[in-house]
Amino acid sequence: MAAPDEAGWEKAVAALSGAGEVVLACHVSPDGDAVGSMLGLAHALRRRPGTRVFPSFGEPFEVPASLRGLPGVDLLVRPEQVPTAPALLVTFDTGSVDRLGSLADRVAEAGEVLVVDHHASNTGFGTVHLVDPGAPATAVLVEELVRRLGVPLDADIAACLYAGLVTDTGSFRFAGTTPATHHLAARLLATGFEHDVLVRELLDTHPFGWLPMAGAVLARARLEPAEVGGLGLVWTEARTAELAAHGLGPDQAESLIDLVRTTREAEVAVVVKELPHGGWAVSVRSKGRVDVGAACTALGGGGHRFAAGFTSHAALDETVAELRAALTAAPRDTSSGARGVIVASRSSEATIAPRAPWGKESGCR
Ligand code: 5GP
Ligand code: MN
Repeated sequence: MAAPDEAGWEKAVAALSGAGEVVLACHVSPDGDAVGSMLGLAHALRRRPGTRVFPSFGEPFEVPASLRGLPGVDLLVRPEQVPTAPALLVTFDTGSVDRLGSLADRVAEAGEVLVVDHHASNTGFGTVHLVDPGAPATAVLVEELVRRLGVPLDADIAACLYAGLVTDTGSFRFAGTTPATHHLAARLLATGFEHDVLVRELLDTHPFGWLPMAGAVLARARLEPAEVGGLGLVWTEARTAELAAHGLGPDQAESLIDLVRTTREAEVAVVVKELPHGGWAVSVRSKGRVDVGAACTALGGGGHRFAAGFTSHAALDETVAELRAALTAAPRDTSSGARGVIVASRSSEATIAPRAPWGKESGCR
């Protein structure tokens, strides 16, 4: 989908301006961008008298520990308490209807469906679209929407949007980060929330049991240099029982991919996470030469070019075998300098700042 134009923004503002009751929904197993974007807009809408908000996400309704410190988590309502036929439904960071899980039925029943998203794989569901695959986070779109609604940024809105921005840019390290991203971060920080506390909870805090769990998961990582057409694959799996043995919930497996993807010898990194009720949620990352979004879309999932995922109900061996095949077939950039070479080739808002001197590193979420 193309980035929203002026008419798109006006339609979105009009839909929100008339709404007294708004259901907000993000994708299942939500991350910082999903919940942060959703709560950011929820705060803004609540600033207007007479607006009721119902922010939620599909079962299992378990708020990840890393997100429990976000201002407004107490506003979240269980999916079964979400009105069944809302006049307006707003979805966040959700590329397809199925990613809403147990809230997916609300899409057909809602009067208007405003889709706020940045997935290249967005299917175009809904009636009003703010979808920009060029945005490094959904939170970027929400900030513009809040501005166009005429609601001034406050510390609660800003903290939620900052959580989305930090999560999806990998703390401003991924290729989608531009001078404009840093300008937005500056505007958010200027509201005065405790960004260090927020980000420590978001990214740098685990229960002690996480250390031995991560140790075991990383110890059995397999490096397969011949895979992905010789660019290399590294993968491991995280088991529910292993997490439980260390007193950890399934959300504690989410950050493992950020350790696995540091492997120099592999272009693509994968963590296969066992789901509590069977099957596997697979996280896939590339460093910028392979379109893992295409590979995951081919396997029924989706995501971004360099950060994507899919769900599998096959056995572990079969799941990884299917992924190896999809990665071999995925579009790839084999030109020299495509990865790992520092080049001054990126054009990015040169009027604001000098060109970024770094080559491609990784995609956004
Ligand atoms: P993560 O690996 O962090 O769970 O997800 C990375 C990216 O892939 C996110 O943008 C996420 O929305 C997308 N993604 C992960 N799993 C799935 C899936 O099962 N289906 C779809 N459509 N997208 C997914
Ligand atoms: Mn996102």
